[in-house]
Amino acid sequence: MESLDLFATSKLAALTRVSLRRELSCTARTDGITVERDGRWLLSFSCNDYLNFIQHPAIVTAAREALARHGLGSGASRLVTGNHPLYTELEDRLARLKGTQSACVFGSGYLTNLGVIPALVGADDLILIDELAHACLWGGAQLSGARLMVFRHNDVGHARALLAEHRAAHPVALILTDGVFSMDGDLAPLPALSRLARAFDAWLMSDDAHGIGVLGGGRGSTFAHDEPVDIPLQMGTLSKAIGAYGGYLCASAPVIELMKNRARTLIYSTALPPSVVAAAIAALDLIERDPAYAALPLARARSFTRRAGLPEATSPIVPVVVGDADAALAASQMLEAEGFLAVAIRPPTVPKGTARLRFSFTPGHSESDIERVADLVRTRVLAVAA
Ligand SMILES: *Cc1c(COP(=O)(O)O)cnc(C)c1O
Repeated sequence: MESLDLFATSKLAALTRVSLRRELSCTARTDGITVERDGRWLLSFSCNDYLNFIQHPAIVTAAREALARHGLGSGASRLVTGNHPLYTELEDRLARLKGTQSACVFGSGYLTNLGVIPALVGADDLILIDELAHACLWGGAQLSGARLMVFRHNDVGHARALLAEHRAAHPVALILTDGVFSMDGDLAPLPALSRLARAFDAWLMSDDAHGIGVLGGGRGSTFAHDEPVDIPLQMGTLSKAIGAYGGYLCASAPVIELMKNRARTLIYSTALPPSVVAAAIAALDLIERDPAYAALPLARARSFTRRAGLPEATSPIVPVVVGDADAALAASQMLEAEGFLAVAIRPPTVPKGTARLRFSFTPGHSESDIERVADLVRTRVLAVAA
């Protein structure tokens, strides 16, 4: 065998031995909540389509009309000729939703973090990051070359101690956290982090991938706390509750202008297709017009946690931590045999020993669906794991 294939084969064998081998399953969807896998229809609790917008008629129509009018691709990066007219409207709406002066749309959430962070900090600077922050915040932080210090999950005291010791040695400090943690569903203590950032002249950046559309009346995790929170760098994605694709940063006008000049993933990557941008605009329209609808995913998640005997949900994401990777796979297979899809999440996506089922809830999940799956989780997953 060639050395390259030998390398790949032995890496894969090592993953298989520890139940960490991953495979793509062909998954078809025709509505908000059911998916087809291996010829079987399953009720899915594993989609990030929190508002069932992927199949929403008004959103699909907006995309279709943009496709007919503007064509398929955008043809170039935004700074060349890819900046079609729909971008201005989307960015104005995002800035309005988040209460910032300005906004900038990128190709994806991942690309946003890889572009924004290195445009703000470099080798002399300091980054503080929550240990459970999303992989693409880590990716952007590493790419920046800044000194990277990790604080314990949601531990503001630990972050304060790190800043007290190290802030003075660096011209700039950036604090990175998810607003809603993607695999745990808990919220970051944004008010306390914001005060901490101010006290140490550090810049706070939150990743609201799982907050926009579903928390704070649809405005996101920044608006889900008892007090108003000042976060100068609010990024997120258009690919989860918004149901489309793309990422964004909402910030002040000078910061956004800087991104257009310095963020490499914006400058050197092709602009989003017009139909995708049109879909995102239509989705934001619906959220703005009906904030009560945005509250439904969390209400559904709370029905589940009540019935399953879990701590009350704080977002539409509910983890059921099982422990071992193979136990998580077995629990997922048990639910699949009962007609439910709840994908097992294993290391390195989550820390070792915390493999889990990750449930997410949407308006389309009925109370009776939720009762059935919660009862299975209580009697056949939690009872066994305990
Ligand atoms: C999904 C996700 C991203 C990446 O967004 P994409 O648009 O899918 O690239 C970023 N941050 C968090 C917390 C996420 O969950």
